[in-house]
Amino acid sequence: MMVVMKAGHTKEEFDGVMRRLEEVGLSGHPIEGAERTVIGVVGIVYPELGDDLETMPGVENTVRISSPYKLCSREFKPADTVVDINGTLIGAGTVTVIAGPCAIESEEQLMTTARAVKARGGSMLRGGAFKPRTSPYSFRGLEEQGLKLLAQAREETGLPVCTEVMSEATVEVVAKYADVLQIGTRNAQNFFLLEEVAITGKPVLLKRGMSSSVMDWLLAAEYILAKGNRNVILCERGIRTFETATRNTMDINAIPLVKELSHLPIVADPSHGTGKWHLVEPVSLGMVAAGADGLILEVHPSPEHALSDGAQSLTFESLGSLMEHTATIAHAIGKRMEREAAQVTA
Ligand code: PEP
Ligand code: MN
Repeated sequence: MMVVMKAGHTKEEFDGVMRRLEEVGLSGHPIEGAERTVIGVVGIVYPELGDDLETMPGVENTVRISSPYKLCSREFKPADTVVDINGTLIGAGTVTVIAGPCAIESEEQLMTTARAVKARGGSMLRGGAFKPRTSPYSFRGLEEQGLKLLAQAREETGLPVCTEVMSEATVEVVAKYADVLQIGTRNAQNFFLLEEVAITGKPVLLKRGMSSSVMDWLLAAEYILAKGNRNVILCERGIRTFETATRNTMDINAIPLVKELSHLPIVADPSHGTGKWHLVEPVSLGMVAAGADGLILEVHPSPEHALSDGAQSLTFESLGSLMEHTATIAHAIGKRMEREAAQVTA
């Protein structure tokens, strides 16, 4: 339910509504619009609540939200959410490119990649320090040492950094170093983890579960918003289908659909979506043309030597080509790249 406050309501009237919600065990999530203040009500809403609230001073009316997800719906907030990561914007009518290695392997690997990403116009650096691997015998990441290297790369390049958090036990250490906390596909419905990550207050990049419907995914995002964290970036990374010729099946439908259903920004991950580096550029162009607010891409100085996901990792050269062509598509649909390409120096 949404409580629409009257134009010119007083602070006392607003506080009165928030107090009343608390008394009946509900939480109020205000959004200040250009003309009206609206309070999203979260919790189990009883049938007479709307009538009760409408008798309170300062309340214009109440509206029930029909979708099962509330705070992330367009009904609740018609205007697009722009996530601001220390000045780097996602969802501001721009295409924001997050790029970096699948896993952080060494200082040299990460630093050369960070410089290449910056030089080719990327806005943010990615890199896994805690890696979810299908086999326990695969390389599982440098853990805190990897996080320290990410912080060093941010220091040198000025790029904000995004990395995955896999467990509740490591939320604190990952949040200490990262600017954006990534929830991977395997944890996309780990609801306690989603809540722990939410309460750090850091922006969260929420990947779609490989078997999640759009509804499951938006309800997972709702767990984060319901804990008071509105800085959620959705990420389409492909789903499991009967098709085995590619690693996953990129759901291009999800981009414009989610844009209709939700105000949250959405980025696409064609690296995991395809599993093949030579498909990453064409699929990226399609996802941007369909309305994605950005891309998250895997890139490696020497993909054939990568300790994880080499087959889907771009070289610096192929990243350069992708960035150039992505800018052309962005301009064709009236957007611009979040960071115009800097001089190629790396
Ligand atoms: C990753 O980004 O490296 C990753 C493991 O992604 P996903 O959770 O989408 O598989
Ligand atoms: Mn990967």
